[in-house]
Amino acid sequence: MALIVHKYGGTSMGSTERIRNVAKRVAKWARAGHQMVVVPSAMSGETNRLLGLAKELAPAKADSAYSRELDMLAATGEQASSALLAIALQAEGMQSVSYAGWQVPIRTNDAYTKARIESIDDAKVRADLAAGKVVIVTGFQGMDDNGNITTLGRGGSDTSAVAVAAAMKAAECLIYTDVDGVYTTDPRVVPEARRLHTVSFEEMLEMASMGSKVLQIRSVEFAGKYKVPLRVLSSFTPWDIDLNEEAQSGTLITFEEDEQMEQAIVSGIAFNRDEAKISVLGVPDKPGIAYQILGAVADANIEVDMIIQNISKDGKTDFSFTVNRADHAKTIDLLKDKVLPALGAQEVQGDTRIAKVSIVGIGMRSHVGVASKMFRSLSEEGINIQMISTSEIKTSVVIDEKYMELAVRALHKAFDLDQAKA
Ligand code: ASP
Ligand code: MG
Repeated sequence: MALIVHKYGGTSMGSTERIRNVAKRVAKWARAGHQMVVVPSAMSGETNRLLGLAKELAPAKADSAYSRELDMLAATGEQASSALLAIALQAEGMQSVSYAGWQVPIRTNDAYTKARIESIDDAKVRADLAAGKVVIVTGFQGMDDNGNITTLGRGGSDTSAVAVAAAMKAAECLIYTDVDGVYTTDPRVVPEARRLHTVSFEEMLEMASMGSKVLQIRSVEFAGKYKVPLRVLSSFTPWDIDLNEEAQSGTLITFEEDEQMEQAIVSGIAFNRDEAKISVLGVPDKPGIAYQILGAVADANIEVDMIIQNISKDGKTDFSFTVNRADHAKTIDLLKDKVLPALGAQEVQGDTRIAKVSIVGIGMRSHVGVASKMFRSLSEEGINIQMISTSEIKTSVVIDEKYMELAVRALHKAFDLDQAKA
């Protein structure tokens, strides 16, 4: 018998029929002797619907102007789904109680729409578990020091579930979702992509931040910090499959200590089209230029990802970096208006038709030649590399967007990711 946290996403909670299925599955775990805490998302589409209503009433205002009310509003989605799940469990003959974030309470800071969890008081939940109840805790929300309802950012129910699991020292946190695990890459791009049985949390962090949107990235950070065993698995298996089989399915996010010896060097290929490239040409090559360019960008709250500076010719150099595609125009305007004149640079160019493709794997730490194998495979496909960045467990390149899928397929093959591990 163990304390287990289940999290169900919006699709899994999408209709009364599906909620009934969730209830049956949870009841199966509880009847097997486990203490169960369940964290549901709002029914699919509900958060968007609610936020859409707000937009209708205040189209001209920035969201930030009424963010307190947005949280008050959006939190109702999870309150409804949590109550419905408790009712469904009771209909299955289980004892169950649901709590909103403020009732637990889950305390957060006061950053509306992107609050961070600070502490969780688990006394009430523990007492209910001890009394034999299945406890449902709303995802996505908490309460600040003044009693205001806060939410954790879109996709935040993952983080709620991991935080509850961490606070309660749960044996495992299972994230039930509409995919059956984490894949070597997106199966829509590479049909041979395989589900990974395990992935290290550092790899998951890299993949989650690069477009494999299985988990909210903050939930992975949380799991890493508090060493919460985390599993991503499908909620679309029949609810009555064997519990042990279900408990081993999906992808387990592990910590390096428990890694098996023969870890693949590259575990996955991540990619995204979310970035744009900015190049400042003909910059005088002297101290302080990186700061002048990127300082101005940072002051405008624009996040920068990759950066390269070329060697100089005749005292001038070119300086390129990438930003979120949504910030592309703003960055160009900013540089043209404020930075270029002061810098004495010649020109700013932007390119939104780029893609970033990355190979990720903790095995890269202890192997040489991994990046060069990546570059060879791209050159064999005739794909030009525009930028490169590396970290201990990742190498990323920026290429022309139109070759993105080709690059992903070539790399997936080059690193034998379609071959099942022995
Ligand atoms: N319901 C929230 C959203 O749609 C939180 C979540 O589902 O994780 O973003
Ligand atoms: Mg989600």
